[in-house]
Amino acid sequence: MARYTGPVCRLCRREGEKLFLKGDRCYTEKCAVDRRSYPPGQHGQGRHKVSEYGLHLREKQKVRRIYGVLERQFERYYDRASRQKGITGENLLQILEMRLDNIVYRMGFGASRNQARQLVLHEHFAVNGQKVDIPSYEVQEGDVISVRDKSRNLQVIKGNIAAAEGRAVPEWLEVNLEQMEGKVVAVPTRDQLDYSVQEHLIVEYYSR
Ligand code: SF4
Repeated sequence: MARYTGPVCRLCRREGEKLFLKGDRCYTEKCAVDRRSYPPGQHGQGRHKVSEYGLHLREKQKVRRIYGVLERQFERYYDRASRQKGITGENLLQILEMRLDNIVYRMGFGASRNQARQLVLHEHFAVNGQKVDIPSYEVQEGDVISVRDKSRNLQVIKGNIAAAEGRAVPEWLEVNLEQMEGKVVAVPTRDQLDYSVQEHLIVEYYSR
């Protein structure tokens, strides 16, 4: 399964903001955006005038990178979002949020979406009691996600759970960290998503 394997912090620097791709490190002073708040590369510190197209492109790239989705798959998600009822930009964010790797991360079982993806691939999670090892698996409202019995003593998962204790869980999820499981109570609404994305710019990007 294809995925981006280059330097992760570079992606945040390119977008000019923290995308929280590395788990705990993102909250420390080692964060590359905090230390070098200019784009990577030889001309990163030069002055740049951003075109309208550039703005649209950057917003699309930002969201794609937040969720760790490659270009083709992102296009497919957009295509689906545009064919659904409702506002295309919001539909797109909802589709991305309902990916299994994102839900595992949101529930606190993964330190980052990237790590959550690895944990799913290594068969550590079940959906409604059935093993699922596909990070892009689309979770449905009412589904219960749990750590599989064989993985309950895994140090990495225990560490993530310890770090997640006391952390706020999105209101559209119900999580029982002790039981190592959680339920998707509802599909999130736009105002329940906690990041500064201007999804209408992505719609404009694809409407060129
Ligand atoms: Fe981005 Fe986290 Fe790296 Fe900071 S530490 S640049 S937020 S991935």
